[in-house]
This record gives sequence, C-alpha cells and structure tokens, in this order.
Amino acid sequence: MIPLSIYNPATNALLTEVPADDASAVAIKAAAARAAQPDWQAQPLATRKDCLARFRTAVATEVETLAAIMTSETGKPITMARRELNGLLERIDFFLNEVDAVMLTRTVFDEGGMTEQIQPLPLGVVANISAWNYPWFTSGNVLVPALLTGNAVLFKPSEFATLSGLAMTRLLHEAGVPKDVLIAVVGGAATGEALVAQKIDGLFFTGSHATGVGLARTVGSRLIKLQLELGGKDPVYVCDDADPASAAAALADGAMYNTGQSCCSVERLYVHEKIYEAFVSAFVATVKSFQTGDPTSADTYIGAITRAPQLDVLQAQVDDAVAKGGTLLMGGHRGPGPGNWFEPTVLSHVDHSMLLMREETFGPLIGIQAVGSDAEAVELMNDTRYGLTAGVFTRDKTRARSILSKVKAGTVYWNCCDRVSPRLPWSGYGDSGLGLTLSTAGIETFTRPKAWHERQP
Ligand code: NAD
Repeated sequence: MIPLSIYNPATNALLTEVPADDASAVAIKAAAARAAQPDWQAQPLATRKDCLARFRTAVATEVETLAAIMTSETGKPITMARRELNGLLERIDFFLNEVDAVMLTRTVFDEGGMTEQIQPLPLGVVANISAWNYPWFTSGNVLVPALLTGNAVLFKPSEFATLSGLAMTRLLHEAGVPKDVLIAVVGGAATGEALVAQKIDGLFFTGSHATGVGLARTVGSRLIKLQLELGGKDPVYVCDDADPASAAAALADGAMYNTGQSCCSVERLYVHEKIYEAFVSAFVATVKSFQTGDPTSADTYIGAITRAPQLDVLQAQVDDAVAKGGTLLMGGHRGPGPGNWFEPTVLSHVDHSMLLMREETFGPLIGIQAVGSDAEAVELMNDTRYGLTAGVFTRDKTRARSILSKVKAGTVYWNCCDRVSPRLPWSGYGDSGLGLTLSTAGIETFTRPKAWHERQP
C-alpha cells in the first residue's frame, strides 16, 4: 500500500499519512462487500434504522472533534464545519422518518384473484466517490439512504477529506453497520479508477464535471445505475424593486460562504441597472466585513483554498476579466502563505466574454453584471452549460415565479440562495449532473422496484 499524505491547506503542514488502496486491495474490499450485502439486506429495516440512529447520536456527540478534523484537512472555517455536522443530523432525521414508506411493498392492483405489487429492493453493492468541499453532506446524502435501504457501500472519500471519511466510517461501524457492509476505499484518482473497475451495481459520484464525464464513459456500457452530482455556475438576478442593502448582504454570504467552495455558491450576479451602483457598493462593504484567516478561529469567515491548483484557476479568471475591461473592486490576488490563500475578490462591469462569468470559479471571487430588463437577465442566466441553482431577489412573488419558471436549473430560489433542504430533490440540468439526492426520491434512487404479478390458483 502506498501512503497518502494529508496536508493542512491553511498552513501546508503535513498532518498525517494514511495507507492508500492499490488495485488489488480495492478488489479484495469489493469482494468482501459483495459477500456481506445479502445479510444486510435480509435484516429487518428497523435494525438498519437503529444503526443509523446510533450513528446520528455519535455524530452529535462528537461534533467538536469531527469539526476540528474537517477544518484541519480542508481549511473550512470551524463555525461552518460545525454547521455542516449539525445540518447532517437534520438530514439523517429526514431519511429515518421517510425510509419506511419508501421501502413498503405496495399492492397496486388486487382483483379477480390477480394481485400486482411493487417491491423496492436495494441495488446491491454501490460505490460512492465523494468530494471534499462538504465531506459530511455529500457522503451522508449517499451513505445514509444507501445503507438504510440495504445496500453495501464502497466509499471513497476525496483525497482532500480522507480523515473525515475515515471518521464517518468509524462512527458507522461503531453504530453497528457491519465492517464489510461499509468499506472505506482510500486514495486519489487511481484508487477511484480501480474502484469503478470492480463489479458494482451503482456509482454515486460527487465532484467535477470532467471527472464525472470520464466515469460515465467508463461505466456506460455496463448499464449500472449512475448518479453524477457535478458543478455549477449559479446565477442570481436582483430586480430593480429589491432592497439593495439586504439583497447584497444575503448574496455576499451566498457567494463567499465556505470560501466560495460550494457547488451551489452564487457564482454570477446580474443586477438591474436602476440599483446597480447601490447594490455593488453594499456588496463590497459586506465582503470587506468578512474576516479572512485562521480557519480554527470562530471569527473567521473566509478560510483556505482546499486544493492548491485552484489558486491558478482563480488568478486566471481575475486576470482574464481585468484584461477584458472588468473593474476590480477588491482583492484579486493570492494571500500570503504558507498555505493556499486567495483574497475575497469582487469585480463589476463584467460580461459573458469573460471566463469568470462562464467557467466554475469555486473560490471567493465573483463578478457583478448590470442588466436592463428581466428578459435580458433570463437570457444571461440561461447562457451556461450548467444548471444547478438560480435565484431572483424581488418583492414581487409573481415576477419571481415568472422569471424562475424560464430558468433551466434543478433548484430555484426566491429571495434566498445557497440553500439545501433534505425534503427537496437536489439535481442539476445540463453539465450539473445526472440523477438526484435528497427528498424521498433520493432514498428511492438506491432501490430498484421488483414487479410481482400473482394469480391465485
Ligand atoms: P474531483 O472530480 O476532482 O474529485 C471528486 C472525486 O473523484 C474524488 O474522490 C477524486 O479522488 C475522485 N476521482 C478523481 N479522478 C478520478 C478518476 N479518474 N476515477 C475515479 N475517481 C476519480 O472533484 P472535487 O474537486 O473533489 O470536487 C469539487 C467539484 O465537485 C466541484 O465542481 C463542485 O461543484 C462539485 N460538487 C458538486 C456537488 C453537487 O451536489 N452537485 C456537491 C459538492 C461538490
């Protein structure tokens, strides 16, 4: 086994090394999961629910330790790490409350001695390849419903959130999930490739579009369940009747929360020209109030950039926008090292010729473009290959509904943004992905329906 080195992105200090799985180790783990899955499926649902309920209690008890681990390996501000863990509890509660109804065998026809039933069954052995930006949310959205519905899971956390993934695995095992029913697979891209080469019944991936498309090509001919939660370039339009100050405060948070490293971060702002100047100055004032620094400090709002190569992506987007006439209002450069830092950055007078308004940014960087009408805003919002979320700020609900019904996005927001609910499906149009998580449909997705036709003799 080759060691995987884990660094603190805020300091570049080596945190630890963990053994990574090579192809033969992955194959052994896949065989173990295959052997263990039928017994897990045969357990009463109540038994599986008890395990996940104990897991919930353990997460709640260990929030401080788990948050510290997450912050150390991702650079996420500690208050946001705590919030993610507490948010996971609400998601587990939702899954626990809804899974009985989803797993019920339903009689849909019963006449003249003929009965028809739909029986939800687990997929079997599924792989979860996960991202680092919300390691507990993205993995929890898969692991909790997959295990509840009777699947075995081969779980590869991101190489940038491995310690969180291993902590999650430990807590699930301590809660009673058998060791071979949930198996952590440790490593980076090569380990991921070895994992998808195994016989699996489903692949649930969260990560970049490029990786997701590559995985789709790899597994395409195997006709297994494939779910891809990919990137976004999420727009918000601020109408002329919105209050510029309160919209700016909400949207600065939506753009910069988690240091802008959220799939549903606000990444493009369109503001009606009538309130453009007022909005831009309120937005910059809010971002200037955000404290950048030590992610372990409770006062920190902007933390480190988790992956060092992203610094070049951010710098290239700023340089390209400035070269094409964008106005740099604040930031625009790397922060001082050691560690991966980028200044919170706001540009105005941007347009769609710029990378900043077209490519996923994934950092504390945003452009604000003026628009003259709702129709122009809709056209610009739809001028993207992504379609994860989109929002509108206006006092007028009818106007918001009219605009948002024309926008191609899996999730739409009126007077809010950067929000995920366990009760609602999380999905994207276009290059934002395939399939969904969350909601009751996000439990069903880990099952396949068996159709029973039974005639009485
Ligand atoms: P990434 O694609 O670099 O990595 C994701 C996972 O894929 C990691 O576990 C990585 O080790 C693995 N991987 C990489 N190459 C692989 C290969 N060839 N074969 C198999 N596995 C491979 O993405 P990331 O940087 O971890 O995550 C950031 C991206 O995730 C952003 O684009 C973000 O928008 C997206 N994201 C989407 C959602 C959503 O719900 N839509 C949620 C979180 C993050």
